[in-house]
Amino acid sequence: MSDLFELGKKWLKKYNTGQPLNIMEVCGTHTMAISRYGLRQLLPPNINLISGPGCPVCVTSAYDIDLILEIINNYDLNLFTFGDMIRVPGSSSSLLEQKSRGKKITVCYSPLDALNFAIHNPDQSVLFIAIGFETTTPLSSIVIKRAEENQVRNFFIFSTHKLVPPALELLVKDKQVKIDGFLCPGHVSAIIGSRPYHFIPLEYGIPCVVSGFEPTDILLSIAMILRQIYQGKPSVEIQYKTVVKPEGNRVAIDNIYDVFQPVDCLWRGLGNMPCSGLELKPEYQRFNARLRFPVPEIKPRPHPGCVCGEVLKGLLKPNQCRLFGQPCTPQNPIGPCMVSSEGSCAAYYRYERLNPERI
Ligand code: SF4
Ligand code: SF4
Repeated sequence: MSDLFELGKKWLKKYNTGQPLNIMEVCGTHTMAISRYGLRQLLPPNINLISGPGCPVCVTSAYDIDLILEIINNYDLNLFTFGDMIRVPGSSSSLLEQKSRGKKITVCYSPLDALNFAIHNPDQSVLFIAIGFETTTPLSSIVIKRAEENQVRNFFIFSTHKLVPPALELLVKDKQVKIDGFLCPGHVSAIIGSRPYHFIPLEYGIPCVVSGFEPTDILLSIAMILRQIYQGKPSVEIQYKTVVKPEGNRVAIDNIYDVFQPVDCLWRGLGNMPCSGLELKPEYQRFNARLRFPVPEIKPRPHPGCVCGEVLKGLLKPNQCRLFGQPCTPQNPIGPCMVSSEGSCAAYYRYERLNPERI
C-alpha cells in the first residue's frame, strides 16, 4: 500500500463525523474506477457515493440522438462518430442498426479522420458528431480551423459539446438532489482549471476536490472532502496537482472560444440549461450540420422504463432501475448509461451487480 493510500485511510477515520454524506463524482472514469476497485467497500457506511452527469454520451439528449438518426435517414452522407455513440438507442433505432442497413457510418478516434476523409472525397458530405465536455472541444476547434484554412466545403459537425460548471450549478440548486461534496473531473479541470468551481463552496457551502484517476487519488480526494466538512471550511482543492492548475490551460480555453460560443443546451436528465452547451460561432456556421441538414420536427420517445435521467442526477442508483440487468445489459443496452464505457449503469453492471448490498 502506498503512503498516500494510508494517508487517505487515516484521514477518512480522523475526519469522519459519522453524519450521512452524499459525495458525487462528476466524471465517468471516476465512476468506473470506484466500481472497478471496490472503493465503496473501503468507505465508512455513512458515506454514499453517487454518480453524476459525468459521461458525455449519457448526457446527450434523446432529442439529439433522434435528430442525428433523422439526418442520416434524410440525407446521403458519411457520418463519423466516436465508438460509444453508435450503440445509443434512439426512439426507434440506433446508429449501429442504421449501419447494418447500409448507412455510411464510421467509428473514428479523432475528428481529423473525418476531416481527412472529407478532403480526399470532395464530392461526398461528411458529418462528424462532436461530443464531449471541455476536454474534447479544443480538438473540435482545431479541426474546424483546419477545415476553414483548407476551404473544405463538404465537412460539417453536429455539436453536442457541453460545459460542466452549469450542470453542477443546476445540481446544487436542485432541492431533490442533496450533495455534500463533489469529486470534480480530472481531465475537464486540466482544461478549465479549478476556478470555475469556486461558486460551489462560496455560494452553496459545498466542498469540491479535483481528483486524479487512480484508486489512491479518489480515496484521498474523498478524505479531503471529509476534512473540509470536519473543519467547516468548504473550498476547492486540487488533489490532481500533477495535471490540474487553478487557471487551467489558457491555450486550450482560447482555442475553444475562438470557434465555439455558449448556447442553451438540452441535457438528458437535467433538461434545458442556459449557456451549458457549445455551438459554432457565426463565422463558422457554414460547418453547422444542424443548419446544413434540416429535418422535420421530431418528438423523441425514450424507453418508458429507463430512468437514466434520474441516474444522471444522482436521484437513483442504477440497480434501482427495474430494467437493470434484465433486460438492460451492456450487450442489450436500453439507455445510454448502459452503453457507454463511462456510464454508471455499465460500471455497476460490470463490477458491482453481484454485491448489490454495497451499492
Ligand atoms: S473526459 Fe475525462 S474528465 Fe471527462 S468524463 Fe471522461 S474521463 Fe472524466
Ligand atoms: S439500467 Fe438501463 S434502462 Fe435502466 S437506467 Fe440504466 S440504462 Fe436506463
